[in-house]
Amino acid sequence: MNVLSNPRSTADYQAMDAAHHWHPFTDTADLAAKGARVITSAQGVWLTDSEGARIMDGMSGLWCVNVGYGREEIVEAVTRQLRQLPYYNTFFQCTHPAAAEFSEALAQVAPPHMNRVFFTNSGSESNDTVFRMARVYWDCMGQPSKKIFIGRHNGYHGSTAAAASLGGMSGMHAQSGLPFPGFAHIDQPYWYGEGRDTGLSPEEFGLARARQLEAKIDELGEDNVAAFIAEPIQGAGGVIIPPESYWPEIARICRERNILLVADEVICGFGRTGSWWGSETYGVTPDLMPIAKGMTSGYQPMGGVLISDRVAGPVMEKAGEFYHGYTYSGHPAAAAAGLASLRILQEEKLVERVRDVLAPKLATLWGGLADHPMVGETRTRGFLGAIELAKNPATGERFGEEVGAGARCRDLCVANGLVMRAVGDTMILCPPFVITEDEMDDMAARARKTLDDLADQLT
Ligand code: PLP
Repeated sequence: MNVLSNPRSTADYQAMDAAHHWHPFTDTADLAAKGARVITSAQGVWLTDSEGARIMDGMSGLWCVNVGYGREEIVEAVTRQLRQLPYYNTFFQCTHPAAAEFSEALAQVAPPHMNRVFFTNSGSESNDTVFRMARVYWDCMGQPSKKIFIGRHNGYHGSTAAAASLGGMSGMHAQSGLPFPGFAHIDQPYWYGEGRDTGLSPEEFGLARARQLEAKIDELGEDNVAAFIAEPIQGAGGVIIPPESYWPEIARICRERNILLVADEVICGFGRTGSWWGSETYGVTPDLMPIAKGMTSGYQPMGGVLISDRVAGPVMEKAGEFYHGYTYSGHPAAAAAGLASLRILQEEKLVERVRDVLAPKLATLWGGLADHPMVGETRTRGFLGAIELAKNPATGERFGEEVGAGARCRDLCVANGLVMRAVGDTMILCPPFVITEDEMDDMAARARKTLDDLADQLT
């Protein structure tokens, strides 16, 4: 049955959902009690729910709908592809035009030292692929003892077992006995949350946090460490923007210690930071780059790993077959969506728009919220933003956990017609690149109104 041609009531959808749908990252009982919000359509930067409410999507779905909703070019490309060839695999010496063309297009926008892509279906699978690929690489290099991965506390690399082990989400680790052996973590470069009381300047703090990597490598033994993985800007952890000193120091350490550098570009890739890659924004050249989300702007599920010549060369030469792949690696419809989304980014110069228009304007608008009595700090980089809620902005004292300030703020925000996400008491933002400047003013007004409403609730 086609739900669009035969709509039911909000209560019906909520009831069938509550009875049968186990949602990701959701307290199912809590959701059943409240009833899920039912999103029925979207256009540009606006969502519409089953009650007809219009809500501005300040999160691009889940950090992915970079070119905005309702892009007919992508719909047509996918439809055409489904008619012509809905599926064929890319195993066993086969390809199809969509996968071949998309891999070429990706290599053209990838950093010059990366000329190959391995296709997956998600960011999590991309990171599992990184895990296996890096180990195979070190085997091929005659250094099979290099097996350990170093990630960061509060980093997020996905939900599969290896990706969750690479990540540093304590709740995820506690729930399933992760990380697996062979994973280590260092602290994040979170100036507002962990740096301000250290007596260090932001730049000194960035260096100190980067040098934890060196110390960890020493502790584990350089010959045992395969790779370091990090998001250029931590997204799910709370849009944690590292001090400028951080990334160059990380790159130096990886280079000097012969450790592969993996930049998880799942959020930062495809223009989010104002250049094609977050690592480019920070001037580093990773060995592997997991990608997903903005790769298709969310129109089809797809991920991948962009692979440097340094890694691809020895593996292809010495390992022969890489025993790894997914039934839907390079899926034709996903590749068609990805290619169409990439063409939109290029033809509409959306990466340049982020750099020249959206990022500076967001910095101004979010800077303008910094003096609000509920706000300890605002920060932006590219088209990512964060607001730290504070009980006492002068000292940065936070609300107690029992107050649930972030969750309250998120709910008030949706009531004011804007989606922002709460990570603890950090409100985060990641809007589509097609938002107009007027819509950005509207977005900031909704955010300010939300903070006013929160102040009414909490003071
Ligand atoms: N890596 C990063 C940086 C992410 O933000 C995410 C998802 O939010 C992932 C990996 C996992 O991607 P997926 O949910 O597509 O598996």
